[in-house]
Amino acid sequence: MRISVTDRCNLRCRYCMPEEGLEWLPREEILSFEEIARIAGVFHDRGVAKIRFTGGEPTARRDLPRLVAMIRERCPEASLHMTTNALLLGGQAEALAAAGLKGLNISLDSLDPVTFARITRRDRFADTWAGIEAAWERGFRPLKLNCVVLRGLNDDEAPAFVELTRDRAIDVRFLEYMPYGALNELQPEYVSGDETRERIEAAGFRLEPVDWDGGPARSWRVPGFQGTVGLITAVSHHFCGSCDRLRLTADGFFVNCLYGEKRCDLKPLLRGGGSDEEIAEAIQLELDRKWEAHPDLTAGAIPVLGTMSQIGG
Ligand code: SAM
Repeated sequence: MRISVTDRCNLRCRYCMPEEGLEWLPREEILSFEEIARIAGVFHDRGVAKIRFTGGEPTARRDLPRLVAMIRERCPEASLHMTTNALLLGGQAEALAAAGLKGLNISLDSLDPVTFARITRRDRFADTWAGIEAAWERGFRPLKLNCVVLRGLNDDEAPAFVELTRDRAIDVRFLEYMPYGALNELQPEYVSGDETRERIEAAGFRLEPVDWDGGPARSWRVPGFQGTVGLITAVSHHFCGSCDRLRLTADGFFVNCLYGEKRCDLKPLLRGGGSDEEIAEAIQLELDRKWEAHPDLTAGAIPVLGTMSQIGG
């Protein structure tokens, strides 16, 4: 289950958000910590074993460690993870670990500060790197680095990312750029996972497959390296058949697919005296409407509302 705790972000990644003009959700629409913990509990009681905090940028939500601790208490069987850009992690790693957060997916699209700034539209590489070091030192595992590969921007960096898996058990994953919402055209920057893999092998790395862990990535290891290298090929080889992701937006919609619609608003039940059973029924109804697979993304546009940052990526 992926819980978006805010639609706000401190970066403006070119594939995720427009440079300006995106309106934030009104404060009263955003779920409180108590409301989020209640919904998480409904999922947990029905077998959800893994919860991931996302955003927008989750660390931009004030007091996030308190929410993590609340969910730790309400959902004792679930392992807790977060997807973050790591920019504020240096100052929060300690508190998040103490609250019970276990694993981190950190978005990092470039190892070069200039390219980083071109992609994220913010000159914050040093803070991000400090956040990654803090995450490693504090012992968050698994520690994954997610890199969206963009032609002419960072596609030549794939071998340098693979090098990061040599001495540390860091899992580097290369994501295909996905057309989405307001950024709906399949941009010329799109690079297929197959092409990224060829580039890695052409740089001299031999890739041996590792067992599939049930997630969206197919992974390999360079023999002798500590970490793994994964490809997330949502466009060229979609994985809808094995996708078990459930999504809660910051304003309380349960969404059954990244390309799904915002039509299951849980707020009226949460704020109007609905029971946990009624919340579960609303979720089940929406889940039953999940399509077998989202339409072909290689064709470019699927009309969805909003941006990736508003649904949680
Ligand atoms: N701010 C956090 C972060 O940077 O990880 C969490 C939210 S972000 C929307 C979650 C993930 O979605 C990031 O790894 C980001 O790279 C990915 N993402 C956003 N837009 C994307 C797109 N168009 N195609 C592929 N991945 C995308």
